[in-house]
Amino acid sequence: MRQVRSDEGFVCPCIVCGVSLERIFPEHPIQVINEPNNAVTFLSRGQYGSTIFDSFDGNTLEINVCDECVKKAAEKGWVIYNNNNPHKDLPIGKGSFIWNGMDFS
Ligand SMILES: [Zn+2]
Repeated sequence: MRQVRSDEGFVCPCIVCGVSLERIFPEHPIQVINEPNNAVTFLSRGQYGSTIFDSFDGNTLEINVCDECVKKAAEKGWVIYNNNNPHKDLPIGKGSFIWNGMDFS
């Protein structure tokens, strides 16, 4: 593994389509590792069923999916929206929902 330094401005490409992603604030002097524009960043501690990654120490993997790929997956019903905040005043209640990529109702 190669360590990523915060001054590199490193941004992972979309893990689905491979498109290169830009930093959200390219001119900002303080660079953050993997802060993409027009994409969603996912952090995972793995999964018990995975044969390649299941963190027991809190370490994470981090990937990006561009907004267009998230939108396409949501339209197919492949994205779960988790409302984990019972105090949040959203139209839907607490729980897990198939997200259509557009609304929260
Ligand atoms: Zn993509």
